[in-house]
Amino acid sequence: MYKDVQLFINGQWQPSVSGRTLSVVNPATEAVIGNIAHANREDLDAAVASAQKGFEIWRNTSAFERSKIMRKAANILRERAAEIAQLMTQEQGKPLAEAKGETLGAADTIDWFAEEARRTYGRLVPARVPGAYQMVIKEPVGPVAAFTPWNFPINQVVRKLSAALAAGCSIIVKAPEETPASPAELIRAFADAGVPAGVVNLVYGVPSEISEYLIAHPVIKKISFTGSTPVGKQLAALAGLHMKRATMELGGHAPAIVFDDADIDAAVKNLAIAKFRNAGQVCVAPTRFLIQKNVFDAFVEKFVAAAAALKVGDGSTAGTTMGPLANKRRIPAMESLIADAVEHGATLRLGGKRIGDKGFFFEPTVLTNIPLSARVMNEEPFGPLALVNSFDTLEEVISEANRLPFGLAAYAFTSSAKTSHALASGVESGMLTINHLGLALPEVPFGGIKDSGYGSEGGTEAVEAYLNTKFVSQLDI
Ligand code: NAD
Repeated sequence: MYKDVQLFINGQWQPSVSGRTLSVVNPATEAVIGNIAHANREDLDAAVASAQKGFEIWRNTSAFERSKIMRKAANILRERAAEIAQLMTQEQGKPLAEAKGETLGAADTIDWFAEEARRTYGRLVPARVPGAYQMVIKEPVGPVAAFTPWNFPINQVVRKLSAALAAGCSIIVKAPEETPASPAELIRAFADAGVPAGVVNLVYGVPSEISEYLIAHPVIKKISFTGSTPVGKQLAALAGLHMKRATMELGGHAPAIVFDDADIDAAVKNLAIAKFRNAGQVCVAPTRFLIQKNVFDAFVEKFVAAAAALKVGDGSTAGTTMGPLANKRRIPAMESLIADAVEHGATLRLGGKRIGDKGFFFEPTVLTNIPLSARVMNEEPFGPLALVNSFDTLEEVISEANRLPFGLAAYAFTSSAKTSHALASGVESGMLTINHLGLALPEVPFGGIKDSGYGSEGGTEAVEAYLNTKFVSQLDI
């Protein structure tokens, strides 16, 4: 059973002050499955007051204690993973196995950040005068506002929430209105684990109204946003105006480069998994497949076969390997990108259409020989579209990989160490994985450069983003 979702403010689940709600739609059936409370200004003021109070409590809770509570939340999430996965599949569409994997992965993320909570070390810098101590101290930045999208309803929240809590910050999460119940269950796990009232708060509403209000609010000291580049630029500008620390995890257009000397079967298998997971609605999904000339035909033939073998359907049906798009507006977005590419001379090798007229299902799609002038070669498709072109030389492919303003993820397959090194230094991206799918683990950095944003949501860098550095120089007298 799907659950109606309320706001969580000051340790209480509550409706919005106005009583206003929004409905939630199952993208596989188009049925309205529940309602979600919709915050207005009064609710936001209550959330800010709560986060301010929560910060005073949490910053004075020892890192040892914070870590224990966080690990308890991780265990609660594990115990409830099967039930939470059902909610996520109903509201977001992804296959149950992916939803469960996301929930269990979130528990691992919490554990990792819980460990890091105890390692926010400062340092002692040798002084120039005897009896002086030069101390570098790390302090939590303050109450945080986090804005997260609908593609990974739990994973996008947990990276921000866990890093903030590890550092000693309180947080207001503005989770996605389209997929609200599963992130609410994440928050519930923390509440049930004993996080004090006010430390974690959850709101939903009109994204632009909430972000404009919270980013400008003097109590909020740091923001973190995951979403599209255009929205990210607006929010980064607002954060700059109010001198707020910001992490921006934005769009990508990942190159996936396959060289003649690669293991082609491994490249096809891994890239098909990465491309069609979550129906391609993944910021790090491989998008521009750049295949060296000698293996182009073989790669295309095998990749088309792998894409055609996907079972598209309701994520809650056994055997489904790709669910629907998460919301209706993504269907015309896909259709217009494909039509434009074909008009520009691309070849449609597979798919290209909506499936049926009930549910937002879309065919796994493969286009080849797409001119660079086609929109899809320049805009993030954020759907199950693979764009496959060929290249001759290493120099040529590095230049194409770096052509766009995006720089999030990149993939490569080659058996040459020399080529791998050239890619590692030549490709402009925040992340590069060679010969396997090695991105997005909690212990490694996760983030982009150029128009894909700044800051990291993994590794020790992720906690650093929620800490201030204070310098204290003390002379013993
Ligand atoms: P969108 O740009 O309208 O919204 C993207 C996300 O940002 C949503 O979660 C939305 O609620 C939020 N958002 C929008 N305006 C906001 C504002 N002013 N303040 C705070 N949050 C705001 O696009 P969409 O139709 O929901 O998704 C399509 C595009 O979004 C995709 O093409 C993709 O580029 C991007 N996207 C990226 C990610 C990611 O993981 N980086 C996730 C979801 C969507």
